Amino acid sequence: MSVAQIIRLPPLPSIRDLIKLYKLRALKELSQNFLMDPRLLSRIVRSAGPLKDCEVCEVGPGPGNITRSIIQNMPSRVLVIEKDKRFTPSLELLAESSPVPLELIFGDVMNFNMEQMFNENNKMEWEGKCPPIHLIGNLPFNVSTPLIILWLKAVSEQKSAWRYGRVRMTLTFQKEVAERMVAPIMTKERSRLSIMCQNWCRVEHKFNIPGKAFIPKPDVDVGVVRLTPLKKPIINLPFDIIEKVIRCVFNYRQKHCIRGIETLFPKPVRDQLSKELLTTAGIEPDSRPFQLTVSDFGRICEAYLSICKEKPDYIKYNYRERKSDDYWPDNKINSLDSNENI
Ligand code: SAM
Repeated sequence: MSVAQIIRLPPLPSIRDLIKLYKLRALKELSQNFLMDPRLLSRIVRSAGPLKDCEVCEVGPGPGNITRSIIQNMPSRVLVIEKDKRFTPSLELLAESSPVPLELIFGDVMNFNMEQMFNENNKMEWEGKCPPIHLIGNLPFNVSTPLIILWLKAVSEQKSAWRYGRVRMTLTFQKEVAERMVAPIMTKERSRLSIMCQNWCRVEHKFNIPGKAFIPKPDVDVGVVRLTPLKKPIINLPFDIIEKVIRCVFNYRQKHCIRGIETLFPKPVRDQLSKELLTTAGIEPDSRPFQLTVSDFGRICEAYLSICKEKPDYIKYNYRERKSDDYWPDNKINSLDSNENI
């Protein structure tokens, strides 16, 4: 019999009743959508792996539906980070009846440093086993994609929650974004997000949840993704360098990769240096970005850095300012915000 089957919370009003009781209408500006199906809730939580005696931080608990499922797995402690204070009574009620400590933190996860959040005894060596600490969340899409980029940077620097070791993350994304995160070479989904995620983490697209399982129902389906930080990144260079090179190359996804490489350098030296860079990296100038492995990108980054060693000014050169939708598959997500979707 699994732990989830034995642990029962004391009788609590159902999430559906709490939403009615406290008039917790889903807020458009926070892209709130609630998941009610207990089987799907426990499937998300199961995707994280065994939680017994672990510390779990849930981001965006809302009224506490995933939180209930987490508690049923008997972790040693649960922390929730929620932006919307309207959920206070519902989460406090859960905290009072929870057999494990449930700590409520109200704030924006994007500004939250998890450096001091967990028990020092749970800290593990980076090269050892993953620590008994998990991050779980069903956040709005317009938060989950920038959040994973922020967290990948923290993983690369072993800061914030990753000061405690290779902390695993189980998060939901728009299905198309989840497909991009795991996309192998030669697929149409291969994108900058594939390289960024796969460079620092083992990425598993666990399962999809149809949009109709959420209230209110979004127009798109949702993918549940688990990320486990790698003992050694494939490209062991600073995050900002890797991010810049990958962004430039994928700006011209359908073109030969030399087109994107050219944008790393100012116009007068562009032609000469981009050819030199690709020769040093051993990459055919007419290969396309989606045909390149993470290691190929590693050689491109190394060659770029060796050119920049000679001419340090090139590192500051930016072909064009970063667009806000750089990691978004298309403009769908922006339109999601306006129709009360996730
Ligand atoms: N966990 C619940 C569920 O699965 O039904 C609610 C999910 S709802 C899609 C997303 C939740 O994330 C909302 O409660 C929302 O208020 C919260 N949220 C949105 N942006 C946030 C942020 N930047 N920091 C913390 N919580 C946030």
